[in-house]
Amino acid sequence: MALKFYNTLSRKLETYQSIRPGVTDLYTCGPTVYNYAHIGNFRAYMFEDILRRTLAYCGYTVRQVMNLTDVDDKTIRDSRAADMDLATYTRTFTKAFFEDLDTLNIEKAEHYPAATDHVPEMIAMIDTLLDKGYAYVGDDKSVYFSIERYPDYGKLARIDLSQQRSGVRIKADEYGKESVADFALWKHWDDDDGDVYWDSPWGRGRPGWHIECSAMSVKYLGNHFDIHTGGVDNLFPHHEDEIAQCEAATGEKFVNYWLHCAHLLVNNEKMSKSAGNFYTLRDLIKKGFDGREIRWLLMSAHYRQHLNFTLEGLSAARSVLRRIDDFVVRLKELSAEGDAGLDLATDVVEVSRLAFRKGLEDDLNMSAAIAAYFDFMHRVNKAVDEAGLGGNAIDLLLNFCREVDRVFGVIHLGSAEPSVPAAIQALADERLAARRLRDFDRADSLRDDIHAAGWRIDDTPKGTRLVRVSRS
Ligand code: AMP
Ligand code: ZN
Repeated sequence: MALKFYNTLSRKLETYQSIRPGVTDLYTCGPTVYNYAHIGNFRAYMFEDILRRTLAYCGYTVRQVMNLTDVDDKTIRDSRAADMDLATYTRTFTKAFFEDLDTLNIEKAEHYPAATDHVPEMIAMIDTLLDKGYAYVGDDKSVYFSIERYPDYGKLARIDLSQQRSGVRIKADEYGKESVADFALWKHWDDDDGDVYWDSPWGRGRPGWHIECSAMSVKYLGNHFDIHTGGVDNLFPHHEDEIAQCEAATGEKFVNYWLHCAHLLVNNEKMSKSAGNFYTLRDLIKKGFDGREIRWLLMSAHYRQHLNFTLEGLSAARSVLRRIDDFVVRLKELSAEGDAGLDLATDVVEVSRLAFRKGLEDDLNMSAAIAAYFDFMHRVNKAVDEAGLGGNAIDLLLNFCREVDRVFGVIHLGSAEPSVPAAIQALADERLAARRLRDFDRADSLRDDIHAAGWRIDDTPKGTRLVRVSRS
């Protein structure tokens, strides 16, 4: 079996081979910390989390870098509008970003370099580009990358250079360039920048967005590394420009595999701040959903396919997770000892592991990996109904759940249920007391109260169990 990824650079599914055996160096474009990230952004970070976890599951040690863009047009614009200094302003959203990663159970990268901490590295790279003749100082004292002097430009996006670049983050009044297609490496200070500037050999100014990622990826991962990712909107011009800057500066191939995730859509339009059709994670939590449900929704579609976001989709995620939880609880409640069903369990795990891994290896085909896990649950449920399972078989099966969860990150294996609030537990105790007194009307009314508060009572052979249910 071999891990395969669709490489945007070649437009082909390729067998993955790391530069160093057993190690993968991964750069993932991170958030611009000018506001709360929306769940479209989190689709990209979730895809990267599944990629990271899959690489680890397949035996790689992953070294991941995710940048924090804490200086650009938007951070400067909004911090000034809020009448705050840039660092104080972005700190709030950086903190919120890390809280959101925790809510979604996204594994931490090894490095989160902030752009403002790496301006000297950016200046050094720009200096090299000037020395090598790939860059020039424009009439407006900004420094630009000259696309004409770099013939490889366009190899990732496969764009026709005779056409003007669209969607580029340049200001309309940037007339200091030789060609409209050139992009800024260093932006000379102007009034809009206020007190945000660094001194450089070309005067006061600030780095362009693209050079941030080039300088930080090379600093932490070297000139040539394995995988670079982002949402498909990053492909051009951001990633194209990163390649141009790095390869022109270092003379080496920059990245072997480029992976891009498709957009999260709302009513078939890209979810974005500018379109105003976005939900932040916090909006959805306020609506009563939890991080696990949002994680499930975002990870369950293939990363290269559009995912249309709906609240109904989140409710469906809740039902699926309930089935997943019920399965673990059921396994844990089986109390027989010994080796009953051990051979059967061994076979089921082997078949399921193969299907699970095959799905992941096929360009992170989560539908196939999820189907493998559902098939596993189905087979185990059947075995429990028909033959019964002993403790050793159950341990084996629970270990496989744990193994799957190294990638899924949603299965509750410790305590299979979220902890029950004291008020709900008190109602349940009262209901039990009413039943003992054969006051069934009272017991039923308490059950209704518990249900209205979002909990269900299951009467099992081992006693009653409280399970969280949909509040909608
Ligand atoms: P930004 O903060 O705009 O630089 O975006 C951060 C990450 O989110 C990038 O990888 C983008 O490509 C990605 N992204 C932005 N909007 C969406 C969306 N609607 N669906 C998926 N990824 C997105
Ligand atoms: Zn980037």
